[in-house]
Amino acid sequence: MMTRRILLFSAAVLPFRLMADEQRVSVRGRLRQGDGVKPGLTTKDGKTIDLAGDSATLGVLRDTRLKDADFEAMGHFTGPAEFQIDPIYKKALFAWRDGKRLMVTYWCEICSIRAWTPGPCQCCQRPMKLDLRDPALEDTDPTN
Ligand SMILES: [Zn+2]
Repeated sequence: MMTRRILLFSAAVLPFRLMADEQRVSVRGRLRQGDGVKPGLTTKDGKTIDLAGDSATLGVLRDTRLKDADFEAMGHFTGPAEFQIDPIYKKALFAWRDGKRLMVTYWCEICSIRAWTPGPCQCCQRPMKLDLRDPALEDTDPTN
């Protein structure tokens, strides 16, 4: 009796490519700041993710008023522990307070000017106030 064994090999193994770097996702954790370290997040399960972004975004990440904040950023992964935050105009930066996801903004109450990165007010040159803001209020007049 003849036994014929036929082994089947899949000749065409499709390259498996993760599309994660093309998808907009968010990361959340405690905002890490410090001398000589890249801005980053420490997630709930203890992972550290380095954050990169444009200069206005980096300005926010380095704002000491946000040190250790419960922070969330939108963007995409460029490595297992490296995250590229969306450009500042996409409004990709949030801080969580009391269970609410708030946009990170800056506000000059003298000039009623809002900005997305810390620094002097473009009008009166005074330092702008950090103003965490409910996204639902974004298009309303901030009179309260
Ligand atoms: Zn001003």
